Amino acid sequence: MTNGNSAIPGRNVVVVGTQWGDEGKGKLVDWLTESAQGVVRFQGGHNAGHTLVINGVKTALHLIPSGIMRPGVKCYVGNGVVLSVGKLLEEIGGLEAAQVEVRSRLRVSEACPLILPFHAALDVAREAAKEKAGTDKIGTTGRGIGPAYEDKVARRALRVQDLKYPERFAAKLRDLIAYYNTQLAALDAAQVDWSMVPWLKDQPLSVFVEKGQVQFDPLLAQVLQQAEQLRPMIADVSRELNDANRTGANLLFEGAQGTLLDIDHGTYPFVTSSNCVAGNAAAGSGVGPGLLHYVLGITKAYCTRVGGGPFPTELDWQTEGTPGWHMATVGAEKGVTTGRSRRCGWFDAALLKRSAQVNGLTGLCITKLDVLDGLAELKLCVGYQLDGERVDILPMGADEIARCEPIYETLPGWSDSSVGVTRYEDLPRHAQQYLRRIEETTGVPIHVISTSPDRDHTILLRHPFQ
Ligand code: GDP
Repeated sequence: MTNGNSAIPGRNVVVVGTQWGDEGKGKLVDWLTESAQGVVRFQGGHNAGHTLVINGVKTALHLIPSGIMRPGVKCYVGNGVVLSVGKLLEEIGGLEAAQVEVRSRLRVSEACPLILPFHAALDVAREAAKEKAGTDKIGTTGRGIGPAYEDKVARRALRVQDLKYPERFAAKLRDLIAYYNTQLAALDAAQVDWSMVPWLKDQPLSVFVEKGQVQFDPLLAQVLQQAEQLRPMIADVSRELNDANRTGANLLFEGAQGTLLDIDHGTYPFVTSSNCVAGNAAAGSGVGPGLLHYVLGITKAYCTRVGGGPFPTELDWQTEGTPGWHMATVGAEKGVTTGRSRRCGWFDAALLKRSAQVNGLTGLCITKLDVLDGLAELKLCVGYQLDGERVDILPMGADEIARCEPIYETLPGWSDSSVGVTRYEDLPRHAQQYLRRIEETTGVPIHVISTSPDRDHTILLRHPFQ
């Protein structure tokens, strides 16, 4: 769906998760990519995890935009992403093994801060120290994303562009390692058993960490070798995106995580280290906000959350036969990146109001509606009791949210199947009623509905690229 006229600039769409991530963005991004010539990641790192099902085959991507699965589409990693070059090369290798051409189509911003093994080491050592002290863990994925963002804000990060100058890189790396080794020593990292970290099995940290201290020589050698492979893909992504758009390319900005995990607007401190909201599609890639023409909020028909943090509409999702258990099992609610079970709960319209507000949502895409098939009744949260007062929008910050008592409306469920339905009028009558109520209570129109993991099982009411 290019406009076919290179004198007319392309149309750009931002896709964001409106809840706590795992809303099913991967399927929608893949589907929307049919209408785009470029797909852009603008925040997060390899802690994201999209699952795509293409021709019945499941593929998980953590860093590379899922648009890579479509020949001819360009993929961009914007400056807002923190980059592990090792993980990127691993992902490229996996795609190439599946006959997907990557290197000529992937552009990586020279302004991306790098994630290096000592970032992961600090993440793991901090969580281990918290566990030892019996204090609350943040529940990070242990991949070094948080420490890499800390370095960026503290202006000491190594960035992709440093890789172009090995001597400069080596000098900065030496300083940064010295800084990290002080931190690791303070956390008694020599006592950490790195082999206990599941995701480290395939890339042992012990190669770089000896007695809790990061070793300069093996690390430098590895990074410089990786840099050689990355070099042809390093680009001024901001410039390339602006040029492409000016000459007619439609761009799709692919958010990772979800709005309630946003560092500013989420359930702080149980959040991720970056801004996940739509506005960061501009800052995190180097286009002006005026180029973000449409914001699609991907919204699960119920709620899920991985890891710790408040969740007002949470249900018991472990007891067989309960609605929460139904969501967890029928919805297969397990994390792609971590394999952790997701907590499940009723749809929260008051939370969605917050999301709509901070993202400027143009339309909603409701996913996993089919998972609710067979529930006798559904509850929908329309506000909360907080300290004796009624509030109709999710408050800011974890402490307030933890004190919220949800106020529910009850709606009838449906027993007919909605799996694979592609026309709105073919949905069960009560499913239509549920969707209408979501629109009324959130104040955002529904433009797309997903009724199975398959990309063709989608109801289109308004196309974001038109
Ligand atoms: P993302 O990170 O937001 O892309 O979400 P995930 O990929 O972690 O989780 C979405 C999961 O739900 C994937 O396994 C999808 O294949 C699946 N999925 C997406 N849309 C639908 C849908 O409409 N119905 C069902 N049943 N599953 C879906």
